[in-house]
Amino acid sequence: MQEIIEISTNSRNGLYDITEKVRKILEMHPVTTGIVTVYVQGATAGIMIQENWDESVQNDVVSLLNKLIPQGVWEHDAQDGNGDSHLKAGIVGPSETIPVIDGKLGLSTWQNIFLCEFDGPRQSRKIAVTIIDA
Ligand code: ZN
Repeated sequence: MQEIIEISTNSRNGLYDITEKVRKILEMHPVTTGIVTVYVQGATAGIMIQENWDESVQNDVVSLLNKLIPQGVWEHDAQDGNGDSHLKAGIVGPSETIPVIDGKLGLSTWQNIFLCEFDGPRQSRKIAVTIIDA
């Protein structure tokens, strides 16, 4: 089964925790053992599993990618000014796969699922959540 999560973003670069939304979809469509895939539709966003104790790691991810991939120096910038956004999205990747263990998301205590925005703010980012029973 599959559902689409839709969220808005309010910064050009930022991580947005979507763990509870994914957990709710699994609760509505329970499986005991399986996998959940989380996939963002869009060439300038990604999905990352990362710590959510506070905002430090999320800010560090954005800082790292901004240092590695500065804005405004890419061939694609001549088209729509977001060459860095595409490169960041490509490095992070558009999806993650999470095992379902004993009916629950198999995340550790400090693992959360984040949408990574690299070309915001956006009114709508769509994330496909697919649950596969094993
Ligand atoms: Zn572009």
